[in-house]
Amino acid sequence: MSKALVVYSGGQDSTTCLFWAKKHFDQVQAIAFDYGQRHLVELTAAKQIADNASVPIHIFKINLLNGVSHNALTDQNMKVEKEQTGDRPPNTLVEGRNMLFLTYAAIFAKANGIKDLITGVGQADYSGYPDCRNEFILSLNQTLNLSMAMSFRIHTPMMWLDKSQIWRMADELGVFEIVREQTITCYHGIKGDGCGNCPSCKLRNRGLKKYLESKGK
Ligand code: ZN
Repeated sequence: MSKALVVYSGGQDSTTCLFWAKKHFDQVQAIAFDYGQRHLVELTAAKQIADNASVPIHIFKINLLNGVSHNALTDQNMKVEKEQTGDRPPNTLVEGRNMLFLTYAAIFAKANGIKDLITGVGQADYSGYPDCRNEFILSLNQTLNLSMAMSFRIHTPMMWLDKSQIWRMADELGVFEIVREQTITCYHGIKGDGCGNCPSCKLRNRGLKKYLESKGK
């Protein structure tokens, strides 16, 4: 029986991954992290969606991530930048987040006899987050294998898909409405179509518009 673990956040990409995983593996579990993000509604949404999909979800607290550096997703006093400026990544970047999430996920996976890890990161709509790049995932995969003497396989079904293609995938998986109505991608923690103004909403809604237009809706 094939088993997989999805790194889950309750957002558009990881929710689509969750259902992608259900299609490709017999037994799917999800792991999510409370890292002091502003909006715990994200985790509530993640739990609800996972429960409805009959996917066991394990939520762990890793508050340290919030203490060692500052960013707009965990620091209530920092405003989310509307647009990216200059060469540096946007202030919503949580340094090291994907590396830590995948590392904890791998530790959990090994303890539970799981080799296949799934993450919704991608670089098609490159947002300036270095740990969303394929190069990083390949490197971490190797490091995790070496560190735990395991042959993990990190799957990134969204790696080369832009947002409109991710909407298409959700539709093909039969979960378009679930993703549209129940996920939270908005930096202000608003479910579904979100606030419409933050960079994350703009990206998501632009992709949705493009997908709906391509379908002739
Ligand atoms: Zn928003």
